[in-house]
Amino acid sequence: MIRFQQVSKAYRGGRQALQKVDFHLQPADMAFLTGHSGAGKSTLLKLICALERPSDGQIWFNGHDITRIDSKQIPFLRRNIGMIFQDHKLLMGHTIFDNVAMPLRVELANEKDVKRRVSAALDKVGLLDKARCLPIQLSGGEQQRVGIARAIVNKPMLLLADEPTGNLDSELSHQIMALFGEFNRVGVTVLMATHDTSLLSTYDYRRLDLYQGQLREIARGA
Ligand code: ADP
Ligand code: ADP
Repeated sequence: MIRFQQVSKAYRGGRQALQKVDFHLQPADMAFLTGHSGAGKSTLLKLICALERPSDGQIWFNGHDITRIDSKQIPFLRRNIGMIFQDHKLLMGHTIFDNVAMPLRVELANEKDVKRRVSAALDKVGLLDKARCLPIQLSGGEQQRVGIARAIVNKPMLLLADEPTGNLDSELSHQIMALFGEFNRVGVTVLMATHDTSLLSTYDYRRLDLYQGQLREIARGA
């Protein structure tokens, strides 16, 4: 599904965020992306959804070299990707329903389909009864689950999560992991950046570790 071949990324000003990174994820894989702050985790996730472009190397997504796609094709790439952020990036002036509907409305789906799919996504994260609320009326864990509903409402084949449990206590973090596990079991590929050691020791998923921009896979159970 995703293959990085010798991918490097230097930001303007010369900072080398990634160096010759190689890895691949198969459909329905689930993996942690670990590493200290500044190791390059966010950069790697941004390269996959073409929020950043690599300086060198190739990135394959479903057989397409996305380092070469032009900007008109980027929305088609992103339709296959759900992105979840630590700070969830909800629109605070909009209801939970409208936040989750946002990616669908970009695609001009008709309002009846929007309602059906938003309800299904909110149901999956256990927040159907909060559809008419504003984000501020929800707890931190609930807000993060709204971010997850928004990421899955398009039924993406790939979920990218950047420190999704960074602001949550341990019980809520495990709730989020349980949700990712459920999506993964129905075939969604999940790549989750984290440095939460309690999650890493609890869940035996693949672990891709970045150290100063270089990636290696850590054997399971190590
Ligand atoms: P992580 O997510 O692991 O904390 P990042 O991918 O955010 O790491 O950052 C990797 C390196 O790239 C860091 O040294 C960071 O300062 C640098 N960096 C990240 N984004 C930018 C940017 N937009 N411009 C310049 N340097 C950046
Ligand atoms: P910014 O404030 O720089 O726009 P965001 O992280 O909020 O940063 O959004 C960056 C871009 O991510 C947005 O322009 C949006 O088009 C894009 N985006 C929206 N939905 C997704 C998605 N599901 N997966 C990946 N990227 C997305």
